[in-house]
Amino acid sequence: MQREKMTLTTKVVLGMVLGIITGLVINYTGVNTPESFVGDYVVGGLFHIIGTMFITALKMLVVPLVLFSLITGVLGIGDISALGKVGAKSFALYLLTTAIAIAVAITIAVVSGIGEGANLTTSAVFTAKEAPPLSAVLIDIIPSNIIDAMAEGKMLQIIFFSILLGISILMVGKKAAPIVSGIEIMNEVMMNMVNIIMAVAPYAVFALIAKAISNLGLYLLVNLAGYVIVLIIALLAHLYGTLMGLLKLFTGLSPMMFLKKMRSVQVFAFSTSSSNATIPVTLRSVTDRLGVNNSVASFTVPFGATINMDGTAIMQGVATVFIANAYGVDLGITGYLTVIMMSVLASIGTAGVPGVGLIMLSMVFTQVGLPVEGIGLILGVDRLLDMIRTAVNVSGDATVSVIVAKSEGKFDAEVYADPDAGVLTEADIHIDEQVEQELAEVIEKLHDSK
Ligand code: ASP
Repeated sequence: MQREKMTLTTKVVLGMVLGIITGLVINYTGVNTPESFVGDYVVGGLFHIIGTMFITALKMLVVPLVLFSLITGVLGIGDISALGKVGAKSFALYLLTTAIAIAVAITIAVVSGIGEGANLTTSAVFTAKEAPPLSAVLIDIIPSNIIDAMAEGKMLQIIFFSILLGISILMVGKKAAPIVSGIEIMNEVMMNMVNIIMAVAPYAVFALIAKAISNLGLYLLVNLAGYVIVLIIALLAHLYGTLMGLLKLFTGLSPMMFLKKMRSVQVFAFSTSSSNATIPVTLRSVTDRLGVNNSVASFTVPFGATINMDGTAIMQGVATVFIANAYGVDLGITGYLTVIMMSVLASIGTAGVPGVGLIMLSMVFTQVGLPVEGIGLILGVDRLLDMIRTAVNVSGDATVSVIVAKSEGKFDAEVYADPDAGVLTEADIHIDEQVEQELAEVIEKLHDSK
């Protein structure tokens, strides 16, 4: 393969692999100490700056992208009851997949007996932040000030407002044509912005992953190997077993194709540890690569990034069993059922941002009477596990998007089956000279007519 012919996915995966290798070398050689050249200028300097700039740029896109694509989506569905069906189906599927995820995780963890007889004591101190109660989550769906909701990136509020706005535009009818085309064009513009920012993704992914792995206490991984291995097995079982099983069952589509096309989204989720920051990439892949119509994806993707966290739920299941065993607490069936319920509810109220899983875990622990400071035990390895579970979280969002779209007839099977559909190449971020010329003429005419 020639270098310039490499697709973005290949480059991003290459960035990830090189990042892992670089991170391992830096960590292993121990050169990453405070006030050393590598510590200050490479890991804490170059890697940190490139990585953070990239994540910030992705976050910058999230709000306008969700806003324009969701309004376009509502305008595209046209029929309000169809919108209700998409909402109800995706909500039910998100809850179902999360519940299955945690139930399977608890089963695997109990069978493996992790943490038993560990007799561990905590050294790290963990102070839990409060997670919002369900009543507050419900009330909070409605923004009192949409500018504030956008400034704060409150996804459920933005979704609510965009749907309402879309419906209201539909109600205006023919007269709204200019605004409809304006919003559709803005949606296209935002997608181009995603493409531009994706062009630097391979370097950013490299920097983010190299930094995370350089800073990781690899020795902690060995100490907590039991927990880490069981958790990774449960995550893989969910991704390849449950999610792909559901995809096949509900749609009959090829899981292999799905996984192939989701690879770059998973790498983004892995390197950013944030389902929210990954929204632009997930949305692009789900529509352009997997063939889900924007009218469904523009709702299911941001909605899923907020309420659906299968990987995080799995972490909670495994962590609960691990810490209960380590402290010699017997939770019993009722205890575990409470854990399942709490995790599902907690995932609804918390957004997909790095480390939020730990906040949800403290909520679960308080409910079942496990010592919250037990979380200190797993704190050191959580950074890496957060990366892995976020990749599972976004895979769940995409799976549900495909299932819902297929059942609603809002799905393009040809796009799904075409391995090259929506592949991002350098041509996508190139400004066509002819187009540029045409646009210049249009602008000139506009000026003349003034
Ligand atoms: N980082 C995860 C996400 O954004 C949430 C978590 O598990 O902490 O999906």
